[in-house]
Amino acid sequence: MKEYKARGLIINEMPIGENDKRITVYTKEYGKITAFAKGARKPKSNLLATTQVFAYCDIIFLERKSYTTIKSMELIDFFHNIRSDIHRVAYGMYFMELLDYVALENEPYPQLLLLTLKALRRLEDEQLALELIKVIYELKVLSLSGYTPELQCCSNCSKEANTYFFSSRKGGLVCQLCHSKGMSSPLEEGVIMSLRYIIYTNVQSVFQFNVSEEVLDKLSIITKEFIQYHLDRHFKTLDFLEEILNPLV
Ligand SMILES: [Zn+2]
Repeated sequence: MKEYKARGLIINEMPIGENDKRITVYTKEYGKITAFAKGARKPKSNLLATTQVFAYCDIIFLERKSYTTIKSMELIDFFHNIRSDIHRVAYGMYFMELLDYVALENEPYPQLLLLTLKALRRLEDEQLALELIKVIYELKVLSLSGYTPELQCCSNCSKEANTYFFSSRKGGLVCQLCHSKGMSSPLEEGVIMSLRYIIYTNVQSVFQFNVSEEVLDKLSIITKEFIQYHLDRHFKTLDFLEEILNPLV
């Protein structure tokens, strides 16, 4: 039995049996880890709060032959302000599912953890529109995962142009000649500038900018299409988010 320590964010929790939980933690040191938290659902358990999604903790793991358990946990941040608002919870849950999907076991990626913690912090502080936080998080996650859109020249013919369109299939900006006719309108300068800012700014500072509602609408459409094309995955938390944003009366 091996004991080791790591610092990580709880990205998924699943009830097991009467009182236990299986949790997924994204750690700084080892990437994604799945572990069993015995007794974590008992009302008086020390692990009751620390094993909840969005809890950021120092954790001591016990690695057994075929599974890992939690020995102890110490809470660093609970992201209280996310939990008090259903919209913020919905965005946050989607971020967790997206991270769970792209993260790998035994492959630490501190930049991805830092990005996620920054995104959760922004969900709490109400300085940016929640949708902008989502767009930034999605584009940055894709870029850190190897899907960086081409934003300097046409991604098809490599020529620089005055007018650009966006093509998820071709992987970024496309010029008028390479653009399939009859689809969408050219991108405004503000949209191109925002895409470049998000992709070329480091994780530490990427949430320090703002855009108009019109630009945000365009960024949102482009990002949604780009993520669907490259990840080809149905996110349940995204359905929940969309239900909350567009309730059927
Ligand atoms: Zn072209």
